[in-house]
Amino acid sequence: MIDHRKLGRELELFHSDPLAGAGLPIWLPAGAAARHAVEEYIREEERRAGYQHVYSPPVAKRQLYELSGHLPHFAEDMFPLMRLSPDDEFALRPALCPHHALVYRSRGRSYRDLPLRIAELGGMYRAERSGVLGGLSRVRSIWLNDGHNFCPLDRAGEEVAAVLEMIQRAHAALGVRPAGFRLSLRGAGDKYVDNPPMWKRTEDVLRGVLKDLCVSYVEAPDEAAFYGPKIDVQVVDAAGREMTLSTVQLDFHQAARFDLSYVDRDGERRRPVIVHRSVVGSMERLFAYLVEVHEGAFPAWFAPVQLEILPVGDVAVDHFSRAAIAAGLRAEVSWEGTLAARVRAAAKRKVPFVAVIGAREAAANNVSLRIRNGGEHPLPAPEALTRISAATHPPLDKAVGGGGGPLGPPAAGAAPGAVS
Ligand SMILES: [Zn+2]
Repeated sequence: MIDHRKLGRELELFHSDPLAGAGLPIWLPAGAAARHAVEEYIREEERRAGYQHVYSPPVAKRQLYELSGHLPHFAEDMFPLMRLSPDDEFALRPALCPHHALVYRSRGRSYRDLPLRIAELGGMYRAERSGVLGGLSRVRSIWLNDGHNFCPLDRAGEEVAAVLEMIQRAHAALGVRPAGFRLSLRGAGDKYVDNPPMWKRTEDVLRGVLKDLCVSYVEAPDEAAFYGPKIDVQVVDAAGREMTLSTVQLDFHQAARFDLSYVDRDGERRRPVIVHRSVVGSMERLFAYLVEVHEGAFPAWFAPVQLEILPVGDVAVDHFSRAAIAAGLRAEVSWEGTLAARVRAAAKRKVPFVAVIGAREAAANNVSLRIRNGGEHPLPAPEALTRISAATHPPLDKAVGGGGGPLGPPAAGAAPGAVS
């Protein structure tokens, strides 16, 4: 069975060291390169959707999480507080929303500012028990593709719908195959904020969006966030375990706790709601899933190494490798070993493009381009680079990514998303 932990080791994507601690993975250069490409793609999708990006620290004073409601409702998932002095206590953050509420509050807001869409790919921490930690799928240090849309309640439905559409585009680009949608609702007990009328209104908004988009879903009682209901997009890993990857949540609670407001068209001060959303979830869980679903052979646009250059004999490849890097490709030259051994090694590392350059090719400024699962093509060197560049562009303007042009490796299976 495919296991991202085993493949992650073989492909040198990430590393876990007991000296650092379980659930605190280190991203090695190959994993970091792939993740960086995915992060850039997501940021660009968000920018086009009107998000503004911020940075905020993964640690803050205890009072911030008291105000947000995390310490009263969520403390068992948080690391213990750190005390610097009797009246100076800090927490590793369990979520980014409190900092984004402070972004909202950093100046006065009017109806013209709304919806205000704030995004950050930021670090946060969860005190998972050591027994449940495994590879990248359950970790204590989490880098979340997070975002918060502040808007009037009557605009929340369209914001949620736009987020679901962005999720569908991202899934198609990454080769994610959603297993289903889940409407997560509150359960009994004091885990949830006590405000029955707001629970009803926000649940109705989410149900309305799912209905308008003709999305089939299951209802999951007692799976809501403590501050409101959510729509979760589920995936299934290679071991058959279902987990939440993407989510969009409606929160009526934190805006009140932070006393967020805006001046409406009529001059009245009103309270926004917060749409919490993650388009692709945490980088850890996303890559645990992507490694397995692609069996390590990522679509070319986020492959760690996109082009491996294999010189045969004493040929000069500096010019070609510099041109490839200047064209934006992640390219490497491999000299060690026989050509057959180097071709095998590149195939094992699932490199999408391999350029073999022997004396004959070098003399004619040609390369022999081998494509992952796609044959061998003799091409002039500049044309090879143009084609590889076209095939490794992040799929921002296309519905389905991964391939591109006749030379592109086969696109990852189009996600059979339920959003119509
Ligand atoms: Zn949030």
